[in-house]
Amino acid sequence: AKTEGRDTYRYFEASMGAEARDKRVMEHELRQAVARGEFYLVYQPQKEISSGRMVGFEALIRWRHPERGEVSPAIFIPVAEDSGAIGQIGDWVLEAACEEAVRWENPLMVAVNVSAVQLHNPNFSRKVHETLLKTGLAATRLELEITETALVKDMPRALATLRQVKALGVRVAMDDFGTGYSSLSNLRAFPFDKIKIDSSFIKAVDTNGQVAAIVRAVLGLGRGLGLPVLAEGVETLGELKFLDAEACEIGQGYYLGKPAPIEAFDDLTGLGKRA
Ligand code: C2E
Ligand code: CA
Ligand code: CA
Ligand code: CA
Repeated sequence: AKTEGRDTYRYFEASMGAEARDKRVMEHELRQAVARGEFYLVYQPQKEISSGRMVGFEALIRWRHPERGEVSPAIFIPVAEDSGAIGQIGDWVLEAACEEAVRWENPLMVAVNVSAVQLHNPNFSRKVHETLLKTGLAATRLELEITETALVKDMPRALATLRQVKALGVRVAMDDFGTGYSSLSNLRAFPFDKIKIDSSFIKAVDTNGQVAAIVRAVLGLGRGLGLPVLAEGVETLGELKFLDAEACEIGQGYYLGKPAPIEAFDDLTGLGKRA
C-alpha cells in the first residue's frame, strides 16, 4: 500500500501542470472525502528546548484515499484551496483537532493550520468561536498557524480576522517565517503571538554560518518583540544543540518527535515528562 501511495504522489504531481482533467478528478474526490471519513489527523509534538518538556502538538491532516492510498497534504491542500473545498476541509480539521484535544488528559496546546481562503472568510472567527463552544476546548489551548502568504490577499480582512480570533483568547503563530516577501513588515502589521522559523533555515543552522546568523537574528527579533520563537524541522542533535545554545524557546521536528496519530502519545498523563 505504501508503494501505491508513492505512485499516487507522482501521478498527481505529474498531473498538476499537464492534465487539468486529473486535477478536476481530485477536486471532485476532495469534496466527497470529508463525508466519506477519508481524512484523519496526526499530531507532531512541540517541545520546550531547554527542558525537553512537551508544550503542544501541531495537527496535520492526512488523506487515506480508498484506491490511491495516502496522499500528501503538500499535494492536495493546494488543490483544495484552488477549488474552494478547503472551506469544508478546514472546518473539519478545526473541529476534529478541538474535539480530540479536549479529551487529552494533559491540557497542552493544539496548533491548527489555517489556509488563506479560511482566513479571508468573514465568518471564520465565528466558526472558531462556535467550534470552541461546541467542543468545550478552552480558547487558550488553541493556536492557529498562519503563513505570510495567507495574509496578503486582503490584508485589512486578514487583520480583522486575526483580531477577532485573538479577542476569543485564541493565539496565532506566524508559520514558515522567513519564506514570505516581507516577513518584517508582516510581523509588525499583524498581532502574532509566536514566530515559527521555517525548516529550510533550521536544516543548515549548524553547518552554514550565514544561516546561523539569520537564525540568531530572528531569535533576537523574537526577544525584542517579546514573542517566543519555534524552530521547525529540527532533524539532528547538532541543530538542537545550536538552538539550545542560542536560547530558542521551542522546537519541532523529526528529532523531537514525528507526526503520529494521537494514540501514539497515549500515555497522556506522562506526556509532559517524555524527553
Ligand atoms: P507545515 O504547516 O509547515 O507543516 C510542517 C510539515 O513539515 C509537515 O508536513 C510535517 O510532517 C513536516 N515535518 C515535521 N518535522 C519535520 C522534519 O524534521 N523534517 C522534515 N523534512 N519535515 C518535517 P506535512 O504534514 O506533509 O504537511 C505539509 C504542509 O501541508 C504543511 O506544512 C501545511 O502547509 C499543509 N497542511 C498540513 N495539514 C494541514 C491542515 O490541516 N490544514 C491546512 N490548511 N494545511 C495543512
Ligand atoms: Ca504549520
Ligand atoms: Ca511550517
Ligand atoms: Ca543540519
